[in-house]
Amino acid sequence: MTSTDKPIIVKCPTCLRPVSWTPEQEHKPFCCERCKLIDLGEWAMEEKRIPGEALELENDDGEDAFFH
Ligand SMILES: [Zn+2]
Repeated sequence: MTSTDKPIIVKCPTCLRPVSWTPEQEHKPFCCERCKLIDLGEWAMEEKRIPGEALELENDDGEDAFFH
């Protein structure tokens, strides 16, 4: 009657290898520390790619053009 005897298997986001979701697996959902670091590195790179001037909130200009 136990529903926890079946281990949950997840895929390592980096190398897509099956990883069992257990307390011993301290790098989950990654299979190893290396895959974890690789994923973190990619995140940092993506953040750098996002331009800082993505927001355009010029309300005054927009209203003026509408009136014209
Ligand atoms: Zn991996």
